Amino acid sequence: MSSILQVALDTPLHRLFDYRLPDDMVNVPPGSLVEIPFGRTLQVGVALGQTADSSIGTDKLRNVIRVLDDRPALSPEILRLAKFCADYYHYPLGAILLATLPPRLKNALPFVADTPWLVLTEAGRLADPPARARVQRTLLDDLRMAPQSRDLLRAQKRGRHAAALVAAGWAAWTRVPPQASVAQQTTPPPPATPEQLAALERLLPALAHFKVHLIHGVTGSGKTEIYLRLIDAVLIQGRQSLVLIPEIALTPQLELHFRKRFPGRRIVTLHSGLAEGARTANWLAAADCDVLLGTRLSVFAPLPRLGLIVVDEEHDASFKQQDGLRYSARDVAIARGKQHDVPVVLGSATPSLESYAQALAGRYQLIELKQRAVSAAQLPAIELIDLKHVPVDNGLTRPALQALTETLARGEQSLVFLNRRGYAPALYCPSCAWVSPCPRCSARLVLHRGHSTRPHRLKCHHCGFETHIPTECPGCGNPDLKTLGQGTQRLEETLGALLPAARIRRIDRDTMRPRAWAELGEAVHGGAIDILVGTQMLAKGHDFPNMTLALILDTDGALYSPDFRATERLFAQLMQVAGRAGRADKPGHVLIQTAFPDHPLFRYLQRHDYAGYARELLAERKQLELPPVTRQVLLRAEATTMDSALAFLQRAAALAPDAADVSVFSATPAPMARVANLERAQLLIQSASRQALQAFVRDWRPQLESIKPRVARWSLDVDPLVF
Ligand code: ADP
Ligand code: ZN
Ligand code: ZN
Repeated sequence: MSSILQVALDTPLHRLFDYRLPDDMVNVPPGSLVEIPFGRTLQVGVALGQTADSSIGTDKLRNVIRVLDDRPALSPEILRLAKFCADYYHYPLGAILLATLPPRLKNALPFVADTPWLVLTEAGRLADPPARARVQRTLLDDLRMAPQSRDLLRAQKRGRHAAALVAAGWAAWTRVPPQASVAQQTTPPPPATPEQLAALERLLPALAHFKVHLIHGVTGSGKTEIYLRLIDAVLIQGRQSLVLIPEIALTPQLELHFRKRFPGRRIVTLHSGLAEGARTANWLAAADCDVLLGTRLSVFAPLPRLGLIVVDEEHDASFKQQDGLRYSARDVAIARGKQHDVPVVLGSATPSLESYAQALAGRYQLIELKQRAVSAAQLPAIELIDLKHVPVDNGLTRPALQALTETLARGEQSLVFLNRRGYAPALYCPSCAWVSPCPRCSARLVLHRGHSTRPHRLKCHHCGFETHIPTECPGCGNPDLKTLGQGTQRLEETLGALLPAARIRRIDRDTMRPRAWAELGEAVHGGAIDILVGTQMLAKGHDFPNMTLALILDTDGALYSPDFRATERLFAQLMQVAGRAGRADKPGHVLIQTAFPDHPLFRYLQRHDYAGYARELLAERKQLELPPVTRQVLLRAEATTMDSALAFLQRAAALAPDAADVSVFSATPAPMARVANLERAQLLIQSASRQALQAFVRDWRPQLESIKPRVARWSLDVDPLVF
């Protein structure tokens, strides 16, 4: 009699837990969610198997309280994917399984579904609101095409109009968008360019099986159009597509694009910016959607008829989760594609060296798009302004200012990129060299400008610490403190003073909420903005036809950074920012202020030569034995003192299994040695062989658990991106 249930729980322990099944719960399929007692609390766990006996005496076992059959069980596919992650990332299976679930399902409270979809009612089909209710009329028209998500409606500021339609009985909120009839396509696809056709000729026949394809296409080459045609082919087979994208901010625009292209199809979005209820509802809706569009967490969503996975901007660092289960959604997507035997299409203008090396080695199919899709759109000219010879005033050189002025005079738009938010990166004392330290981190407090009701503040970007501006230097009492350098707030102020006629908008984490993007897009398209000032947030994905100048300030820090990926990242970022300029029929222009114009990165950038730079970087990585030529695992430790963090890692190094082809480096303080009052240290493990490294960590991890004294926190980071 198999009356014992093995349950995976959200604990740090690498094991399952046994519970006795009461007589009325004979058969609990694997993946079912169950409520069980754990310590003095009740928890939700995932049933994995049933056995007849337990190593713990059956009489000591506690009972399963109930099977949560108000929600679907995790599918065998998801269980298998989680198992892969547990093995590869050396992370407890239970913690992974529960992390894949949306918030409401992790909780044993009766599950009440949210209603995030607005659909047309029978009355709405025939409704004819008065002509002056213009927005209501267009919303009705949209609903006749496809259900609309609450989030999208909010982003479009149409929530009020939606409510009016519901009040009139013309529309209703529902949990899952009903299967709509497959309507005519509203946006007919443009004829494919020769390069797009060539790419499709290679991709369409490959839809039947697993294979990784890397589309390396310059910005504006029409990668999205290729995805759409592949998705269309998969839809016709009645299968589902998973499209992973880096940014929450981009989903409203892209979602709209997809909906227009596939009216009547069930397109579901999933990202952490959704409210709990909507996220849960969308996760549930994913199982029978046609296209799931989402950020990294979507890689774990249930998709029983999966036929295609697309990872757009595959190089983007946001695909890697930096805490808890430190997974790369791109790599998990590839594992999932392999498990399902479906193709995985990676796309980028600047692929990660990891992916590019695979393509060069022939393991991924490489597909190149060298031209922009809109025939008149040329790649922008990139010019450098040498800061060693040209004076800078408030962060800006004269040629830069002149280019902004001329662009403004032509009625065109510019973007100014400065990857530092806040007013100034630090406050400093000229007499004793005090530079606003964070009391809890090894970092500087950043000066943020206030407004009339709120004075300036000093803020830590790492731990959230905040304080007022001191009236005198805490070090020496000097009342004359100065700001050091500039952030986006100050740049916005400077530009406002220099170009009083320009309508300037700042885009960074302080100004942008996810819903603000749709409005911003409209403002830029409608010509209500002349200059966008911002951080890397504005580098991504937006297509603004009248944007002809990109001005890039102060990225030199990355050129000589100790982080070996800094130049790879900078190149990608600069290509992306440059890609914002000249997307339509007007030529684009990029100006970069730098004190190191001779750095090889710029030579390749000016030629738009990603491939050349990638080969140079790969040669360098090979020589220095760095990824992707080698593989790395980082053991991190955090403790109240640096000594105890280092001692933990030294002990860990001493316990390392013998493996000739695996190198264990010395324990060192992390580059950012203290965050929120915890000292951080790390130990790097490296090998030319992924298998050897995996086998090493498999033997090593159980040893780590035995180390005494313990530290506040330790974790393994497989394929670390940030050190
Ligand atoms: P990418 O993702 O490669 O940067 P997009 O897919 O955003 O490029 O396409 C860039 C622009 O080119 C978009 O405005 C898109 O509508 C347009 N475009 C794409 N394919 C075609 C095509 N075949 N014909 C005309 N325009 C196209
Ligand atoms: Zn001082
Ligand atoms: Zn701090």
